[in-house]
Amino acid sequence: MKPYEVLLQDNKAWAESKLKSDPDYFHRLLHVQTPEFLWIGCSDSRVPPDQITQTEPGEIFIHRNVANLVVNTDVNLLSVLDFAVNHLKVKHIVVCGHYGCGGIKAALSKTDFKPVLNMWLRNIKDVYRFHREELDAIENENTRMDRLVELNVKEQLMNLVKTSIIQGAWKNEQRPDLHGWVYDLHDGIINPIVEMKPGTYIDPLYEYEKIE
Ligand SMILES: [Zn+2]
Repeated sequence: MKPYEVLLQDNKAWAESKLKSDPDYFHRLLHVQTPEFLWIGCSDSRVPPDQITQTEPGEIFIHRNVANLVVNTDVNLLSVLDFAVNHLKVKHIVVCGHYGCGGIKAALSKTDFKPVLNMWLRNIKDVYRFHREELDAIENENTRMDRLVELNVKEQLMNLVKTSIIQGAWKNEQRPDLHGWVYDLHDGIINPIVEMKPGTYIDPLYEYEKIE
């Protein structure tokens, strides 16, 4: 059997086992999608959002990319954000990074990954530059990398707040709360790093007036 055929076979087995324990399982999920959470995480295969939070289908709306970035020209992420905030009306947005992130490591190297990856990883180099003083002062390379993972999550929360999507929802509906978390591959534990609730101070430079 080819590797991808194993996936299909396991999928059938999963569907059968779900039906066995709950005959109404798929029928119930068919017409409702009311997740409370939007999860923005890393594409890393070792950090599957629903497994590490023990959530079921229907509970988390998910977007993943390399190093869990919120880039203000990324139509993919912005569409997900707009839909989650304005249509699904999520109450919480989690940006979850993870220690040992390959994207963060790659961004700190001098390797030329060629145009597309270079473009993406540049965003992480910028995060380093914003926090250069703190990061340069950390001698141990792994500790410095771990701290960059945390600061990256924090910067991505701020990138969310810079969007008119979040500012509008904060002003009009006092939601969603933003959570910056970091998952530890060593023990499987998620560490909360930073939280921003509606009304958190925004640099006026990024503030929109008369937002709808
Ligand atoms: Zn990663």
